[in-house]
Amino acid sequence: MEPSIQRLLLSDREIHLRDGSDLAARAHILLRQQKETWPLLRAGYAGLAEVRTRTIAMDGFTIRVQWNPARIVSSSARVDDESIRRRKCFLCPANLLAEQRGILFASSYIVLCNPFPIFEEHFTIPHTTHTMQRIGSSFGTMLDLAHAMQKRYMLTYNGPKSGASAPDHLHFQAGEKGFLPLEKEITRLVAGGEVLADTKTMQVVAVDAGLRRHIVLRSGERESLIGALRVVESAFAEATGDKEEPMMNILASFDRGTWTVLIFPRAKHRPSMYFAQGDERILISPAAVDCGGVLTTPLEKDFQRLTADRIREIFGEIFLSAGMFQKACAHLSRNLTTR
Ligand SMILES: [Zn+2]
Repeated sequence: MEPSIQRLLLSDREIHLRDGSDLAARAHILLRQQKETWPLLRAGYAGLAEVRTRTIAMDGFTIRVQWNPARIVSSSARVDDESIRRRKCFLCPANLLAEQRGILFASSYIVLCNPFPIFEEHFTIPHTTHTMQRIGSSFGTMLDLAHAMQKRYMLTYNGPKSGASAPDHLHFQAGEKGFLPLEKEITRLVAGGEVLADTKTMQVVAVDAGLRRHIVLRSGERESLIGALRVVESAFAEATGDKEEPMMNILASFDRGTWTVLIFPRAKHRPSMYFAQGDERILISPAAVDCGGVLTTPLEKDFQRLTADRIREIFGEIFLSAGMFQKACAHLSRNLTTR
């Protein structure tokens, strides 16, 4: 193992195996250790304790707006090719800060603490090598992580042009279950959704409600889900004309033998309000957490101005239009196996 990775890992002694040996328990212990030894992380969580939130009732679902000043780093991150090439990658093991520690998963991913948290317990889980953010070849690992962390956490993925602040370095994030409003709403939304496939091993439902059109996969079989994601990817690619990975955010969790995977196809990375001049500008850069119903903004004035109407406008812009979504769903029903 490379020395830069070796030095990161917490030893079993530091983890205190008596607290449990599954990945969720280990990550929880890592966070405690890092809050004690890493000042930047401690400051991040102190900032999180001060955030202000507001709950906005939409038609049939809720959005929580979070004013989180520390998120200025990611909300305003420059993710164009040139800026990415010029910066030192903050997820490469060799570039991590001296205080940072982690837990190895499947010999090629490291669970790290996110110093700019939105969740009460927020992790970033990068690949150990500098490789492009792509879901096609890594979705199986996302499912494995959701499974390994099921006791406390759920997983998120942001596509390279859909909110990932390191589009050039493969990574997931994890946060505590029960934090996102959508987790409580999903059963009702699925019940009102359109069933695209319902087989012995998997259910696929399209949810075209609440301005966040998305696809829900439910299955206890890893391989069925990987196959379904492939079909979902090609359906979105066809509907949007994207040549590379179609823009999307994904939430995944595992409960009582079943994975639930929510896939949000995107039409845009940032809403036009983000690029507006003067007072019209609202610094909001939606990613998976926002899809889950927690909209973060680093500026107080934007926090005050995020009304139901503005949220409707933002969501209407960044997610697929009804027409494109229907086109993708038609492709999905044709191509998902119905065994
Ligand atoms: Zn990197």
